[in-house]
Amino acid sequence: MLSTIALDTQVIRPGLCTGCGACQGMCPYWGSAGGRTVCYFDCERKDGCCQQFCPRMPTDLEALRRRFFQAEDILPEIGPFRSLYLTRAADSSIRRNAQHGGSMTALVELALQEGFIDAAVLTRSQGGLNPEGVLAAAAEDIRACSGSSFQIPPALAVLNQALREDRYHSIGVVGTPCKTLAVYKMMAKPLAEDGCHAENIGMVFGLFCGWGLDWDGLMELTAKRTDPKQVSHMDIPPSKYHALELREGGKTISVDLDDVTPLVRSGCHYCTDMTAEFADLSIGGARSADGWDVDKGWNQVIIRTEKGQRLLDLARKKGVLEFKDPSAGGLEKLKGASMGKKRTGVKNLQALTGGLGYLEPSAALFQGL
Ligand SMILES: Cc1cc2nc3c(=O)[nH]c(=O)nc-3n(C[C@H](O)[C@H](O)[C@H](O)COP(=O)(O)OP(=O)(O)OC[C@H]3O[C@@H](n4cnc5c(N)ncnc54)[C@H](O)[C@@H]3O)c2cc1C
Repeated sequence: MLSTIALDTQVIRPGLCTGCGACQGMCPYWGSAGGRTVCYFDCERKDGCCQQFCPRMPTDLEALRRRFFQAEDILPEIGPFRSLYLTRAADSSIRRNAQHGGSMTALVELALQEGFIDAAVLTRSQGGLNPEGVLAAAAEDIRACSGSSFQIPPALAVLNQALREDRYHSIGVVGTPCKTLAVYKMMAKPLAEDGCHAENIGMVFGLFCGWGLDWDGLMELTAKRTDPKQVSHMDIPPSKYHALELREGGKTISVDLDDVTPLVRSGCHYCTDMTAEFADLSIGGARSADGWDVDKGWNQVIIRTEKGQRLLDLARKKGVLEFKDPSAGGLEKLKGASMGKKRTGVKNLQALTGGLGYLEPSAALFQGL
């Protein structure tokens, strides 16, 4: 029963689980209900993939970086870094349904069309609620996943199933930092004997992430303000607005952030990654030094690998993305925000464990925070 017990005692009971689904889709033992990871049966395996892939089990982040990224690219604040761009989708029909500038949808679609990937694991939701992981193999399926849900679905269960089926051989994955870390743990330790064809992971697209929210809590909060079925979009504007915005038709309902922060998923309090440092490229809303109003509807894109750069260059050449010059202080602002999340995550882990908990093998990275 060790396998079940380790995940249960080290991750789920202390409140570290992010609900990413990395432990699911491989066996009948683990599943998910309403965003919560559930163990259906005890298991006797000591070395199950569920433990090995979980982003909240101890991880040597430095070794993982050394294996997949160029040492000279690593910035202490935001991880592997080649360049920063401000972009948005050139196609206005993508922008209309997107969270910010639609760069993610446009790049995943281009990656599919140009053979970088042959399918993509994405998240589809109705106006940000009740999201589910999907495996998309056509442009229209990718477009149907535009927009962000602040509930975290166990989308990596879908990836695990696809890797076992071995039908697609270059799968793209879009995910928050917890998910992309789990994907790199899969790539570092493919357990072919367990049928996990991690060599079929083709490209990783990271999303910047502040935190995710409790499923039931967000549904209740939304239902108190409006009919959840009518909400087409949710977003968190910069901190000075102190709000969660619910969009319904042409109307925006502003929810005080004080009502939202108690709903932050427990596992997110122990996360130190804001920019999805394990990815070929990472995308967030543009919150550059010039301010939200100037850059609203644009994305910041961090390129981390040669493959990420090739895709971005192709997007420029083919006119898939529009570009504007990042403001002078944009990178520094991003580094500052990222360090803020690292400090908070470390502080919370120290309060919980008296040390660095699952980050202990990477202690050198967090010294002095
Ligand atoms: C929980 C969460 C918190 C975030 N916090 C921040 C933040 O603090 N700062 C910031 O700049 N950006 C944050 N983002 C990212 C931001 O919301 C946008 O996704 C990003 O800017 C890309 O915008 P876009 O218009 O290019 O995306 P789109 O073109 O609209 O594409 C969005 C993509 O996100 C995927 N997706 C949607 N919901 C989820 C989910 N719950 N889990 C995994 N994938 C999902 C979809 O599959 C889709 O491919 C967050 C995203 C999520 C999901």
